[in-house]
Amino acid sequence: MDYQKIFDDIWEEIRPFSEKGKQADYIPALAKVNPDQFGMCLQTVSGDVYPYRQADTRFSIQSISKVFALAMCLSLRGESLWKRIGKEPSGTAFNSLIQLEVEKGIPRNPFINAGAIVLSDILITELVRPEEEFLHFVRELCGTESIVYNDEVAHSEREHGFLNAAIANMLKSHGTIENDIEHVLMFYFKMCSVEMSCRELASAFMAFADRRPFNIDGYRLTNSQIKRMNAVMQTCGFYDEAGEFSYLVGLPGKSGVGGGIVAICPLKYSVAVWSPRLNSKGNSVMGMKALELLTTYTEESIF
Ligand code: GLN
Repeated sequence: MDYQKIFDDIWEEIRPFSEKGKQADYIPALAKVNPDQFGMCLQTVSGDVYPYRQADTRFSIQSISKVFALAMCLSLRGESLWKRIGKEPSGTAFNSLIQLEVEKGIPRNPFINAGAIVLSDILITELVRPEEEFLHFVRELCGTESIVYNDEVAHSEREHGFLNAAIANMLKSHGTIENDIEHVLMFYFKMCSVEMSCRELASAFMAFADRRPFNIDGYRLTNSQIKRMNAVMQTCGFYDEAGEFSYLVGLPGKSGVGGGIVAICPLKYSVAVWSPRLNSKGNSVMGMKALELLTTYTEESIF
């Protein structure tokens, strides 16, 4: 498949969307990012890599980090993880509080903020040095030592993270969080602040695309667990736009408010795309369009 040529065609088609949407500004440090950037990278299971435009520019992965946190927690806790967190699509915004109150502090799934704040709590309980160990896991997963947190972004989010603090307090009041709220929140913001490029994300997500049991840094997942992670990405990876992404793109994936989206085509490829301008649901406008065109032109999707 000539992915490079396909990327050229995609780029021509998505250019009219280049001024649609705006970057996340509720995290002041992210509002400073130049919104007019676009990168993409596809890696095949046989190891071929197709970078496009700013494939090597690092950006804030934000909620994409929830996939890495889930992989670690699933490896540590197995099926008992699901006593603390559900696995149903939420149909609500990533930072919604309403459902959490109605459902008595059990987050609908691990990919909305409430769910990932619980993952953060579990990692703090399980690990001796959660910040170092999380970063080490991500570095090992993509084979790049230089990946780091962006402390400015993490602290900027903490200063303005009133809604996430409300979510953490609600979880704590229902007993779903074991550790100190401040510690849990700060670790959650740190995980979100990790910076990676499209090339690095495509490489990291290969572990979910190539259907081989995985053992990264001592964290093991069986094929069956990887299948289940992909199922949760398919149904819950895009908040209240999960159905739309499934309909338009037809791949499991995960987005973040830094403008990144990663998706995988099992046994074929992993692909990451980045463009900071977001739609009203917090997903990259050009990113969604690019992936829709990718699966349309290649006729490669899971459906
Ligand atoms: N750190 C962001 C938040 O908690 C992550 C949200 C996202 O990427 N959708 O609001």
